[in-house]
Amino acid sequence: MNLPPFKPAEWMDQAECAKTGEPNAWFPESGDAYGHAIRTCYTCPVRDLCLQTALDNNEQHGIWGGLTPNERRELKRGNPPRKPKRNTRRKVRLEDIEFLLSVDRTVTLDWLADRFGVKRDSVQAVLRRAERWDLVEQLRRNERAIA
Ligand code: SF4
Repeated sequence: MNLPPFKPAEWMDQAECAKTGEPNAWFPESGDAYGHAIRTCYTCPVRDLCLQTALDNNEQHGIWGGLTPNERRELKRGNPPRKPKRNTRRKVRLEDIEFLLSVDRTVTLDWLADRFGVKRDSVQAVLRRAERWDLVEQLRRNERAIA
């Protein structure tokens, strides 16, 4: 069977993973460390497109948009992924919070804290510094909804 040639999407030109020369890091074998790949994703300018592509195509393998296959499945079900290991702890950035809330508007402060591997206070501090009271309120509403 002849398959059509692979045609990368335009956003792939900006993919951080493509610049590293170590694509296998995004497709870890069982037991491999993948913290480096995830941290790289969180600095990638096309992370939202990458994750959306993986969710749309039901990608079953590899790290896409900073999430593992299990985490993507959990995200689609609206469940928080398991707590990240220490070596996947990452800087809490406002744009990441905005992005995660845009993918799933029901996430909570605890979910975000787990996602970043930090305490709730660290997430709240970023929102307070940015004066994003709308997001603080949204997170409170989400917590009340599941209480
Ligand atoms: S988000 Fe991660 S996997 Fe996706 S393009 Fe960027 S670096 Fe690659």
